[in-house]
Amino acid sequence: MIVLMQFGATSEQVQAVCDVIAEHKLEPLVLPGDRTAVGIPSAIPAEVRENLETILGGLPGVSKVTQVSRPYKLASLEWQHVHTTVEVKGVKIGPGHFVVMGGPCSIESYEQFAEAAAIVKEAGCSIVRGGAFKPRTSPYAFQGLAEKGLQIMKQVADEQGLVTITEVMSGDMVRLVAQYVDILQIGARSMQNFPLLIEAGRSGKPVFLKRGPSATIDEFLLAAEYVLHQGNPNVILCERGIIPLERGYTRNTLDLGSVPVLKEYSHLPVIVDPSHGTGVARYVAPLAKAAVMAGADGLMIEMHPNPKVALSDSSQALTPEQFMALMSDIKKLAEFNGVRLN
Ligand code: PEP
Ligand code: MN
Repeated sequence: MIVLMQFGATSEQVQAVCDVIAEHKLEPLVLPGDRTAVGIPSAIPAEVRENLETILGGLPGVSKVTQVSRPYKLASLEWQHVHTTVEVKGVKIGPGHFVVMGGPCSIESYEQFAEAAAIVKEAGCSIVRGGAFKPRTSPYAFQGLAEKGLQIMKQVADEQGLVTITEVMSGDMVRLVAQYVDILQIGARSMQNFPLLIEAGRSGKPVFLKRGPSATIDEFLLAAEYVLHQGNPNVILCERGIIPLERGYTRNTLDLGSVPVLKEYSHLPVIVDPSHGTGVARYVAPLAKAAVMAGADGLMIEMHPNPKVALSDSSQALTPEQFMALMSDIKKLAEFNGVRLN
């Protein structure tokens, strides 16, 4: 529920609204804007809702009371009418500012990551990706360099002036990972790891949340709600494909249809990852370009200096040449859409 105050409503009138909400054992949240609004982010019991709406609607200074129709509240465009722009070290992620996060699946060595980062930078991207803690299907597969990988990431980013993003897999690792990187990635497999979402929310770092392979849009946005509910407004959504109907053709089915849907129902920025979305390097470029035209705010793309020897996700990694060529097309499409690449 959102209580919209009149222009010029006094702080006493806003407080009176908050008091009534608190008396009903609900949590009021004051939302600044052109006009102050007071929201109730939690579900309101049906027997309380109507009565509360009448009382609040009759208070001095109140313009109107509206219900948020979706199960997620803080993540909804009904709650916040302006689309969010997340800013990280001067890099804007949101409408009008197209971003590409490029880099290898895993950080494998200083040399490999420094080379990848240099290509990312040369291509005009400002965010470098790379995993230090890898969620692998097999326990025998390369698990990442752990803290050593984080150290490499930080050193390379400091040397080359890039913003960093890496995955954190558990709540008790958030503090460690947050010491080294700029954006915390929550992987598809962890989308509903609620203690992790809460810790990431509390970290104060921007959170990049990937859609779970079998998650509905409601489940995805409710996962984002966990982070927002911790008072962290900097959440970035990532569509990276859902469980495929096909087996043997693509790793996942990239649900590009979710992009305009998410933009319509949520104010959060939406990034598309065609690398995990397809699992096949030659399908990355066509879907990356389609994602730009579908209205995504950016892309996450895996690129390796030498994909053949990559320790993870080698079949979906672009070569430096393919990455450069794709970036040149992306720039043209972004311009066509009237957005700037940053
Ligand atoms: C990754 O970004 O390397 C990754 C493991 O992604 P996802 O969680 O989408 O599978
Ligand atoms: Mn990967």
